[in-house]
Amino acid sequence: MEYEFTTAADIKKLCSKHKIKISELAKRYESERAGVSHVVVRNRMKKTRDVIWEAIENGIGNKKKSDLKMSGGDAAKMYAQLTNMRDMMSNRVCVRAMAYALAIGEQNALMGRIAAFPTAGGAGVVPGVLFSSSQHFHAGKRRLLRAMFCASAVGIVIASGATISAAKGGCQAEVGAAAAMAAAGLIEMQNGTVEQCFDAAAITLKSYLGLVCDPLGGLVEVPCIKRNSIAAMAAIGAGDMVMAGIKSFVPFDEVVRAMKNIAETMSPKLRETALGGLAATPTGNKIKKKLGLPIIK
Ligand code: SF4
Repeated sequence: MEYEFTTAADIKKLCSKHKIKISELAKRYESERAGVSHVVVRNRMKKTRDVIWEAIENGIGNKKKSDLKMSGGDAAKMYAQLTNMRDMMSNRVCVRAMAYALAIGEQNALMGRIAAFPTAGGAGVVPGVLFSSSQHFHAGKRRLLRAMFCASAVGIVIASGATISAAKGGCQAEVGAAAAMAAAGLIEMQNGTVEQCFDAAAITLKSYLGLVCDPLGGLVEVPCIKRNSIAAMAAIGAGDMVMAGIKSFVPFDEVVRAMKNIAETMSPKLRETALGGLAATPTGNKIKKKLGLPIIK
């Protein structure tokens, strides 16, 4: 396949050969892989964008708690802060990004419709960063779509070289991967170079290496929802570093290899089994008791 890639090095080569951005390469790759036209691929991504936006809108206005009352209403609280920025240390882009990320996570916990981007557990980060930033830049729907394609390409590299499954690699593979994808997409939205996209992705992913998956009661609520929100801030921070001229000392492909090594040595207790980390705290055990799950001491 002409546009196939599995590494950042492949992407750099192909983008330079065809004189295209990562987003365009991702679109051509998907078109070739799925055997459909570019228009079909773009329309599918548009649908994803619309599903995400619907989830954000539903989430920021919803104060309903989840069944076990572990989550709900925080997106509305955060979004309301946009009318009272004097109490906030971060700027409007960040506050809105956190609110959007919380909104997606809360909708997921309420069994609402979301788009797994790249997974359901990490689905808040990319929308938080890219949808909030596109509003800030008045980027328009097309530029947002391109940023989403760019983010997707980074997700493919992580899935090819390591994993995006928490059961295999812990939360570094869900929220960590999503944060790296978001950081790259943000740079492309700002018209950055391919190298800058991967610098931002590498800086972000390095910061999430080793992050374990330890959801209370095995439900994707705590710590997942707030973790997405904080990861959105990390991605924006990495993007700002890159726009300031900072590079990643370790290339992205090496970071992905390190992530794979860590995943292979991570205890099964910390890979989506709810047997360790926060899931095994007294608070985590209370939730397990409510769910009738065995408590392992
Ligand atoms: S803690 Fe586990 S379930 Fe929650 S977001 Fe991270 S990987 Fe997903």
